[in-house]
Amino acid sequence: MSNEKKMLSPDWEAVERALVIMAHPDDPDFSCAGTAMQMARQGIEVTYMILTNGDKGNHNPLITRNQLILMRKEEQRAAAELSGVKDVIFMDEEDGFLRPIPELRKRVTREIRRIRPQLIICPSPERYFSGNGYINHPDHRNAGLVALEAIFPAADNPMFYPDMANEGYRPHKIAQLYVTGHDDVDVEIDVTADMETKIEAILSHKSQFAEPEQMRTWLKERWGEKQEDGTVRHFERFRGLRFDRPRDRSAEEEKKEATK
Ligand SMILES: [Zn+2]
Repeated sequence: MSNEKKMLSPDWEAVERALVIMAHPDDPDFSCAGTAMQMARQGIEVTYMILTNGDKGNHNPLITRNQLILMRKEEQRAAAELSGVKDVIFMDEEDGFLRPIPELRKRVTREIRRIRPQLIICPSPERYFSGNGYINHPDHRNAGLVALEAIFPAADNPMFYPDMANEGYRPHKIAQLYVTGHDDVDVEIDVTADMETKIEAILSHKSQFAEPEQMRTWLKERWGEKQEDGTVRHFERFRGLRFDRPRDRSAEEEKKEATK
């Protein structure tokens, strides 16, 4: 980054749980596995939510759709394990057709109310292109939309899905949001120390890479940023949002009640 913009360091002091909402198996590993690893080491429970079943992610005619879905789940679980991620939730929408439909918003809202993360990571819904040579996959944009629309206005508003109270899922407001693939990033995490493991996590998605070793070299070259002192470092950067007065203060409130 050669611009003058000041990058913020992460503030995870009040983060106990983080939820990563992405479109496809392998998306979290490409976009934020290094961050997930650092969080996990600090004792933060990280959950991945994969919105689609990834059933279009292969051109091998010998593999059936159902085989591919199962393979990709296994691959994503293996990658998550390498990163210290606690759980992976598969929402099983059809790959390539993800839309921010009301039914999915409700399902995602239910998971947010159940997991109660202080921090969510999701892709940018605004990114149509990636550099000059790629159209961003529409599922990535729509995963961003699905996540944002569940976070606000649904998850913390008791008027949305009042029936969930019967399931024990109270409204929940997150404190921080990290958006990946955004043009205007302001949170920077140095993931150099975990780069090898991040690449292993990416390469866990074996169905996606015909030439894993070539991929390994390419990833290192593509992502490495040469510093003034000559070293090469790797970063994950996000557009960070913070929200005031999270409503989920139950733990704090309980403590106060107990000391009254
Ligand atoms: Zn993807």
